[in-house]
Amino acid sequence: MEILKTISGKTKIMGIIGNPVEHSISPYLHNTISREVGFDAVYVPFPVCDSLENAVKGLKAINAVGFNVTIPYKKDVMKFLDENSKEALLMGAVNTVKNIEGRLYGYNTDAEGFSRSFREETGDSFRGKRVFIIGAGGATRAIAVKIAIEGAEKIYIANRTVSKAAEIADIINGNIKDIASSVDMDKKASEVFHDSSIIINTTSVGMWPHVEKSPLTDEYTFLNDQIVYDAIYNPCKTKLLLSAEEAGCKTVNGLGMLFYQGVNAYEIWTGLKLEEEFLRELFLSFKEMWQ
Ligand code: NAP
Repeated sequence: MEILKTISGKTKIMGIIGNPVEHSISPYLHNTISREVGFDAVYVPFPVCDSLENAVKGLKAINAVGFNVTIPYKKDVMKFLDENSKEALLMGAVNTVKNIEGRLYGYNTDAEGFSRSFREETGDSFRGKRVFIIGAGGATRAIAVKIAIEGAEKIYIANRTVSKAAEIADIINGNIKDIASSVDMDKKASEVFHDSSIIINTTSVGMWPHVEKSPLTDEYTFLNDQIVYDAIYNPCKTKLLLSAEEAGCKTVNGLGMLFYQGVNAYEIWTGLKLEEEFLRELFLSFKEMWQ
């Protein structure tokens, strides 16, 4: 019988804490990267069944090199860390923690993952662009802050609960640049919709199993030169993306965001810079597994 030697006493620990974590595909991504680059680490999902504080202390106590944080702890975890990055503070959420000699540092790689996926998959950037974002939850705040940092000219934030959109607009206008406005989806917003060259859905509307739903009513029609990004990755093509595709728009789903947030976390933990060619190949395999 061959003895399994992939994990030894020297193997470093990475992981993800949240509840639930059983569905997470991050272990596939991180463990594949470690194998391919020859980094001696293992990535394990850890469901939080005691308090979040104890889970964080436990990972620090066993000297994990770093870990991801997922629903519902991305905001709450910040108070148990030694330091949070400036971006993470503006975004109000941490999804990646790095342990440096017993001190825990929080980062938000969801936003970086989104931005990297957008660049890679559209070949475009946010500099000087007018962007219409649907939603005002945790993902919206991270994405909207990132887009503002990356030089958008105007950001419209449209949400069912307008007050939440206004809160995010205030954060951007007060801390980055006065470029954000909230939009009431129920009032006529189609003018500002057509004024935008990039449309992003950050609501959960259209996510499996409610695949027949769209966050936009028929009042909103796409222009064929608009880029439409949906943060949802299940299904691969939401109703929103299907109608955008029909109108001739370039469309992207949220799988790239998920992929690149993981890549970015891995690079933060290990200090490695993963090669572009390797990442392109890995992303293809990741897509094949998913679609
Ligand atoms: P969240 O904080 O719960 O926010 C949910 C958003 O969806 C809010 O704006 C909410 O509007 C809106 N919404 C929910 N049900 C609605 C309905 N029936 N009609 C209209 N609006 C509705 O969630 P989140 O963490 O921001 O996540 C949002 C989406 O992003 C999810 O689909 C998630 O899968 C996706 N996401 C993807 C990635 C990735 O890596 N690709 C990462 C993070 C999140 P109200 O404010 O009015 O309630």
